[in-house]
This record gives sequence, C-alpha cells and structure tokens, in this order.
Amino acid sequence: MRSDAPWSCGSSGAVVVMGASPRPTGRYAPSPSGDLHVGNLRTAMLAWLSAHHHNGELRLRIDDLDPKVSRPEHELSQRADLAALGVTFAGAELRQSTRTPAYRAAIVQLDEHDLLYPCFCSRREIREAANAPHVHLPEGAYPGTCRNLDTTQRNQRAQSRPAALRVRTNNVQIDVVDRHFGIQTEFVDDFVIQRNDGVASYNLATVLDDENQGITEVVRGSDLLAGTARHVWLRNVLSLRQVEHAHVPLVMNSAGERLAKRDGAVTLTDLEARHMNPDVVRGRLAETLGLAEPGETPTMDELLTRYDPAALPLENAIWRV
Ligand code: GLU
Repeated sequence: MRSDAPWSCGSSGAVVVMGASPRPTGRYAPSPSGDLHVGNLRTAMLAWLSAHHHNGELRLRIDDLDPKVSRPEHELSQRADLAALGVTFAGAELRQSTRTPAYRAAIVQLDEHDLLYPCFCSRREIREAANAPHVHLPEGAYPGTCRNLDTTQRNQRAQSRPAALRVRTNNVQIDVVDRHFGIQTEFVDDFVIQRNDGVASYNLATVLDDENQGITEVVRGSDLLAGTARHVWLRNVLSLRQVEHAHVPLVMNSAGERLAKRDGAVTLTDLEARHMNPDVVRGRLAETLGLAEPGETPTMDELLTRYDPAALPLENAIWRV
C-alpha cells in the first residue's frame, strides 16, 4: 500500500476512509472568442498559483458553449499564450460543447422540482420593466414578468418569441464567502437556465462542469463576484458540492476602465511585436501583484515560492506599456 493512500485497512479489515484530500483542484475556463488579454492572463496565473500553493492542480475548461462566438483558432492561440507564460494544466480539458446531455439532465431535474418557467422577455423589456416607477430592483435583476403567467398568456407570448427557461428562486438571500473579498450578501433573482436558442446558460453549465472536473476552488475575475450567489444556490438545489471562491482583482486601462483591444498592446501577440517576450510579460504581471521587482523575469515556480494569498493586493491594477 502506498504510504500516502487516502484510506487504510482497519484491524477488522474494513476499509476506513481517512477524509477528503486537502489538495485543491482549480480551473481556468476561457471562452474561445478572441485572444486573452493581460488581465485574463493574470487571472490564469493566479488560478495556477492558488492551486499549486497547496500542492493541488489546475484544470482547463474550454467554454465553447456558444457556437456563434467560439472559434478553434482562438482556442489554439489562448492555449499557446497560457503555455508561453508557464500556466500548465493537469489532465485533459473539459469542453462545454460536449456536455449538452449533462445540461439537459439537470434541466429535467429542475423541471421535475417545478423550479422552471418559460420566459419570453427580451433584454429591452426586462430593462424597461425593471426601470418602471415603484420597482426597486438591483441592477440587472429580473422583474418577474413571466413568473406567474397562465397557459393562455404563455400561448399568447409564445407567438412573438421562443421561450428561455428561468428558475424560480423567490429572491432568496445568500451569503457568499469569498477568500479575498469576504462575505458578500446577495439576492438571487430568477435567472436563465436555458437560453431561447436552446443553449444551456453559463450559470448552469459552470456549476455542472465544476462538479464534473472535481473542482474545489474557483479563482476568477472580481467582475464575476456579483453572480456567484446564483451558483451557490444552484449547487444546493442540484445537490452538487460547494466550492471555495477566490475572486481576484482585474487589470484596467490607464483610464481605469476594463481592458479592450483599443487600449493598444494588451495581448501576448501585441506585446511580442513590441519586443516584450512572455517572460517579460509574466514579470510585469507579477510586479502588479507585488511578486516581482521591476525588470525581474521570475518563472511560475519561482513565483510560487513568493506567493501568499493573504498578501494579494485587492485593488485593480492599471496596465501601462
Ligand atoms: N468563460 C467564462 C469567462 O471567461 C468563465 C467564467 C468562470 O470562471 O466561471 O468569463
């Protein structure tokens, strides 16, 4: 028997389970809809450092759920850029485009619990209903227009648009515990589970895929923190394991806005054209995390020896080249 086996035989000969392994399994889940920018790459580095800090591993998920925007050439360039930085992955990737049967099974399960209803609202209708006088809803929350339609009303609405499927959450309040940002209290609105083109929503896919890959910690950009309560709720309802959340700050342009193509050199390809090779970019990103001095080019393994999750700067970084 290997000495590190997570089980042992008791004196009675029965197998005694010694408890779950504390080694984390993280994931990085890019959508192959374009090149990764330095903000995406920094998040990937942090996901790798976080998983490896406790001798765990990082897995890759390809979020190619949306056939309209996913392109194999983007997946190739994203994988090449991650490899060039030294962000490595354990095992085979999970590809969302292969997961439709699992998503469908979960939709059936939610429907059997009478938690789904068809929603015919367009984005504009939702915005207008949410902005109506006397309606006080958090930004972007669903105002409940289709929640209690009767069959006649549904049939009528179905003439104009195909239906998406939403879950009934009763606007439950959830406390999300985030490793870096602390407790976040959110109300979970009725959110989309299946889009009106029949594709499973990101929210459904992500919790099912985390379960499938055995993910124990989710490290991702803080722009996704506000939607995390939905995932906690959905994991409860579908009896999936909860994960630890560790949202990380973003990289912004010099005006303090989200990075975009127009901000100039923001991808590895752009930066290589300016004679910044991936080692230099890694060093610059490490510098924004307080893990390197200007001009240093530490490897990922060197960064691991310096990484301390408790010392992560929580304000967004500014990218200047
Ligand atoms: N593909 C998603 C994104 O790029 C992943 C989000 C997540 O990590 O859950 O935004």
